[in-house]
Amino acid sequence: MITNYEIKIILSYTLKLLLLFFTLCICIKSHAANSINGIRVWPAPDNTRVVFDLVQKPDYKYFSLSSPKRLVIDFNDSKSLISFQNIIKEDHRIKKIRKSKPKSKNSTRIVLELADNFQLTVFPLAPTGQYGNRLVVDLYDKNTSTRTVINKKSANSNRDIVVAIVAGHGGDDPGSIGARGSYEKRITLAIAKKLEKLINNHQGMKAAMIRTSDYYVAHDRKPKLARKNKADLLISLHADAFTSPKPSGASVLVQSTRRANSETSRVIANRQKESELLGGAGETIKNTKDDNLAITLADMSKEHTMKSSYEFATHVLKQLKKVTKLHKKQPEGLSLAVLKAPDIPSVLIETGFISNPTDEKDLNSSVHQQKLAKAIYTAVDSYFIRNSPEGTLLAATKEIDHNIIHGESLSVVAHRYKVSVEHLKKTNNLTSNTVRVGQTLKIKREN
Ligand SMILES: [Zn+2]
Repeated sequence: MITNYEIKIILSYTLKLLLLFFTLCICIKSHAANSINGIRVWPAPDNTRVVFDLVQKPDYKYFSLSSPKRLVIDFNDSKSLISFQNIIKEDHRIKKIRKSKPKSKNSTRIVLELADNFQLTVFPLAPTGQYGNRLVVDLYDKNTSTRTVINKKSANSNRDIVVAIVAGHGGDDPGSIGARGSYEKRITLAIAKKLEKLINNHQGMKAAMIRTSDYYVAHDRKPKLARKNKADLLISLHADAFTSPKPSGASVLVQSTRRANSETSRVIANRQKESELLGGAGETIKNTKDDNLAITLADMSKEHTMKSSYEFATHVLKQLKKVTKLHKKQPEGLSLAVLKAPDIPSVLIETGFISNPTDEKDLNSSVHQQKLAKAIYTAVDSYFIRNSPEGTLLAATKEIDHNIIHGESLSVVAHRYKVSVEHLKKTNNLTSNTVRVGQTLKIKREN
């Protein structure tokens, strides 16, 4: 039996519970409300990145409208704390960013008025470094997504050797941040610019900067941009970081075999589309119906690229150790998107540890940056003397001096520079096969 009194108590508890429930709901509701407290625009040569800073993880939806071209983003359960004046300074892809009538009371609608039809990507970013929650909008120029097909054979002879330089991180991605507050993205760009200058001053060589100022380049776009520039080599510059300040020194990374193999299988699967990635063998790989032949050729091409990457990495380490401590004395195998091009020898150079106080100080010094750039440049030079690609000015005019060291014979030198002993003797007017330590030999390419 339930008495009236008991019913009263139950009712009053139910009421209290309901009240508590509603209060909780309101509390949660007001706490959950997100806010947009900043917009940043990063224009790059072939894309523009717009970043919205939010207090919490964004809950959003977006759609495009035409005539006039617009991108509309609805931020659910969010208020905007930004002023829309003076957001766009110099960006030719976005005419205006403005607020519009929201679809519901608690949401915010932001409209980007666009100058053209762009390839769009919209995605959230979790907090990192100085940045909190973000929503990123990337607008890519449409024509940059079309592949450039390279036919190395038809390239004009005596062309420049192209070295693609990727300054790691940039824009919204600061990379590692040192104890003294230095940003990896700034250090890598400073070294990249010094390296660019050295390479461009070398006759027959040309630098292709994959990043030229403070903006972000997506990882998978770096090899693509390098390929578009017909790069013969790709150098990615970084500064290492660790949880403890102890580790220091530079290291050089190359593509690991495992990742490389899975890349090769992917290329084979799309061989009609991606045959240009496979260098000289590309045409055969594309046209043959024989899968085994395709795989063998692709493997050979890939293997050659990896071998070349490793060889260049050893040249870099040899030079770097003259100007900085080495963290690792051998090239490290790693699996990174920037290194995955099956057709362009690629290395990633960690120039030092930004998390180590001495390294951080050095990495910020213009003098030290110049030393690092010079060391890398010397490695580029010595690598291409031995491996100048066909059709380049360097291959056509190559002539270098070689000093005979202890234990070297004429045939050892000939083998090293890939010329015949006869050619070597002829170039140097030698009548016998004996050479002495300290003797200087002229090395000229055999035609
Ligand atoms: Zn980095």
